[in-house]
This record gives sequence, structure tokens and C-alpha cells, in this order.
Amino acid sequence: MSETVVYFVPPERIGTGIGAMLEESGFLKHLKPKKRIGIKVHFGEQGNSSHLAPEFVRAAAVACSYHDLQPVVIETTALYRGRRQLASEHLKLAREHGFTTEAMLAPVEILDGRQGERFYTVPLDSELVSGARLAQGLRRISYLINMAHFKGHFVTGFGGAIKNLAMGLAAKAGKLEMHSSSKPFVDSEKCVSCGVCVDYCPHEAINFVQYVAQIGRSCTGCGGCLAVCRQGAVRVNWDAASESVQLKMVEYCRAVVAGRRVFHFNVCLRITPNCDCYPQTETPIMDDVGLFGSLDPVACEQAAWDRIGPALTELYPHLNPALLIDAAERCGLGRRAHRLVTL
Ligand code: SF4
Ligand code: SF4
Repeated sequence: MSETVVYFVPPERIGTGIGAMLEESGFLKHLKPKKRIGIKVHFGEQGNSSHLAPEFVRAAAVACSYHDLQPVVIETTALYRGRRQLASEHLKLAREHGFTTEAMLAPVEILDGRQGERFYTVPLDSELVSGARLAQGLRRISYLINMAHFKGHFVTGFGGAIKNLAMGLAAKAGKLEMHSSSKPFVDSEKCVSCGVCVDYCPHEAINFVQYVAQIGRSCTGCGGCLAVCRQGAVRVNWDAASESVQLKMVEYCRAVVAGRRVFHFNVCLRITPNCDCYPQTETPIMDDVGLFGSLDPVACEQAAWDRIGPALTELYPHLNPALLIDAAERCGLGRRAHRLVTL
């Protein structure tokens, strides 16, 4: 079995390190020219300034162009209310954060439809997830650059390469499945009886009871009503245990990488307690570390965790974030053991 390599560059060389890792690993030269290659990045919620810089995406896009590939920057809509909930606003916010076609030398595509309703299902041999509901547009992409920002997360302890693919490329229904063990419910105080969710529900699971929408037993948890209700009246109990979310993310990541060629980055800059969905600027919990990159998502996570894990464990002593890396290795997503090569 060949050795797993994780490349590393310190913070001041990240810009050049991205292209160097893509070349040194031989990833790009084995891809067929002219084909589309998705670069998955998080644009940051409104008010968040710790998200990755567009320059990093540009560096990856330039490297792709040298190999005659067609880079496209890909994202999906967010599950919860905010500007990233709808594709149109998400695109506007991306531009406001500097993620323009001109800056990145690649166009942006939101892959799961106008409001996160478009998905396809990848069957999985898993007790936790029978089928991963991935963004429909992902079907047309067989090469990926997974550009993750490694930072803390109040549910899972950390978010890195695996979460960037799993949560980041699932449609709303998939995000809902990973995030919550509960079906949605309607907040009667907020429901204005517009009927939009009733008309939308593909399973006819919603009826009015005394002028308030009520979700019945035939609900499959597809997440559609959460997406279409403009009043924020459809809610979810965000009570899924951290471990359940982590294990489901591993399954979703398996579904994303199946049949695809992927290179994974963990950018370890501005390591904040929470993820880039957080609509605030937070103080980093430690100094910048640098950039890790690998063909193996598990090794890429492990390398970043080796450096940042202790600080996150101190921050979230009640969570067990390393569970995700363990589970990812056990299901064959990759290997934790690796050789670190500094470029
Ligand atoms: S879409 Fe929202 S506000 Fe309209 S009926 Fe459904 S829950 Fe109520
Ligand atoms: S989650 Fe899906 S199936 Fe359940 S009520 Fe909402 S739209 Fe219907």
C-alpha cells in the first residue's frame, strides 16, 4: 500500500502553496482536459469575516487552467434563515465578500436550486443514512477541489475537509438529515396560514388545524417546507447529538467522493470557535497554522487536528470531535497515518 502524504505550507506561503500542492501531488495532471472541476468553498455568512479569501480560490483556478480544465466555484444554499438560504441572495453575498468571477477567474454556481430543493439520492450501505441527498448540480461534476476552512464548531467540535463536502454539498434535505434527528414542526405564533408549505409538500404531510399548518406523520423530513416558508414558521429541533451529526457527515462525505477525483485542503487561518455560517467576527483561538493538502480527506483532517485539536478540545470539552476522523477511517474514506511533507 502506498504511503499517504499530507503537504504543508506555513501561513505566509498559502497563496503559492495551493498551486504547488496540486502540482506536486500529481492530482491535476491525471484529469481529463476540458472537463469542469468544482472548487468547493464557503463564502461566509453576512457579518462573518473569518471565511477564506477569494485569492485562494483564484490560485486553485489558475492551477486548473494550466491543465486546460474548466474551474467552477460551487456552493449550496444554507438550511437556516439568512442571506445564504436562497440562491439569489447567496450569490449576491458571495460577490459582496469578493467572490466575483473576475477575482477568482471562475464562475460561481449554486448547485441545489433556487431554494435548496433540488437533489439526487446516492444509495448508501449504512444504518445511519440509507441515501445521501446531494445537490442536483453535483451530478455534472466529477472532479473536485475541496477548499475547507478548518475552525471550531459548536455542534461537531470542528469543521474541516469532511464537513465542507458533506454538509456543503448536500441539498437542504440532506443537511436536515445530518443536523437533526427530528422532523420539522410549525411554530403556531409565526404561521400566517399562507398555505405555501401545504402546496409544496411532496408527501401531502401538512394540513391546517385551526388555521395553523401542522405537519403529520407522513412527513419524510425532506426539508422542503423549511425552505419554502418565508415566515420562519417551520422549525426544527436542533437536538441531534453531536456524535450523530458527525457520523452522518462521514456517510455524506462518502457519497460525495464516490466516483470522483478530489483534492482536499484544510486552510488553517483565522481559527475561530465557530464556523463561517456564524454572522459575526470572532477572535481566533490561536495563531494561524498554515495550509494542509492531501488526496486523502482523513489524513488531511488528522494533520490539521494534530495541530489544532488540543485548543479545540479545551474549548469544547464536552464534545468528542475526533470521533469523526475515527469513523471516516473505519468506513474506508481514508487513512489517518500519513507523512507530512513541507513544501
Ligand atoms: S408556509 Fe409557513 S406561514 Fe405559510 S402556512 Fe406554511 S408554516 Fe404557515
Ligand atoms: S419536511 Fe418535506 S415531507 Fe415533511 S412536511 Fe416538510 S415538505 Fe413535507
